[in-house]
Amino acid sequence: MQDALTAKEKYNFNKLQKRLRRNVGQAIADFNMIEEGDRIMVCLSGGKDSFGMLDILMNLQQSAPVHFELVAVNLDQKQPGFPEHILPEYLAGLGVEYKIVEEDTYSIVKEKIPEGKTTCSLCSRLRRGILYRTAQELGCTKIALGHHRDDILETLFLNMFYGGKLKSMPPKLVSDDGKNVVIRPLAYCKEKDLVRYADAKAFPIIPCNLCGSQENLQRKAIKQMMQEWDRRFPGRIETMFTAIQDVVPSHLLDHSLFDFKSINRDSGIIDGGDKAFDPPELPASPLLDIDSMERLDVIEVR
Ligand code: SF4
Repeated sequence: MQDALTAKEKYNFNKLQKRLRRNVGQAIADFNMIEEGDRIMVCLSGGKDSFGMLDILMNLQQSAPVHFELVAVNLDQKQPGFPEHILPEYLAGLGVEYKIVEEDTYSIVKEKIPEGKTTCSLCSRLRRGILYRTAQELGCTKIALGHHRDDILETLFLNMFYGGKLKSMPPKLVSDDGKNVVIRPLAYCKEKDLVRYADAKAFPIIPCNLCGSQENLQRKAIKQMMQEWDRRFPGRIETMFTAIQDVVPSHLLDHSLFDFKSINRDSGIIDGGDKAFDPPELPASPLLDIDSMERLDVIEVR
């Protein structure tokens, strides 16, 4: 791929790759995602994000200050038309350890869910269980998922708009079976960058509509809203993403997170207080894009 590029394209690709590596390195450091001796199961769906995640993790493996192993895992759910040869060929070419798990969840979902109803929740529940079990079988200490910054923000809005909760996707968590630590190394990566990276690297992407399920319309609407904001108000997405990394519980209304009941005149000014009667003062323009800040001091990027 690199040979066919002009000097400018090569320069842009190197910048993009460096930025993605820096984003991943920073997320790994901020959340202590990877530790010495970890064996990480990298979940590969065949989509652009998981291909990008595997590529960047393999790249960082060369220069990271800690030693860790990677095992790429794909779950072949037996959807009609799933091109079985693509991932084994690609992974064998990379020389990474891998496993293709074959489980016909497609038939189970078709049998259990009436025609026309959404199949995704049962399908993902089955997939989750299989992947957790596989991680145990492979002796993996962590499971890496390919969700990125825009997935995290979309989930935040989905939860606010439809779930009445201020929560998103954690960058690191213990799985609901209590047995696995799940990490999201792409948490700081922009979807736009991952799209460009997948194009440049010509990853053999497998279409995600093989099951015939409809797209999640709520998520689609949120995505469109964010794309529109990005077009009309450059910097807003970055500002929102910065906001979820700088939460002030004393200035929200969850009394289980902050002890409002104990506040009295002796408490002093808490988190800067506020002007009580005056409207809040806000900067005229959004914050800087986090990628414009140099953050090279975490995992060395060569
Ligand atoms: S889109 Fe299809 S494969 Fe993906 S979670 Fe939904 S039912 Fe499963």
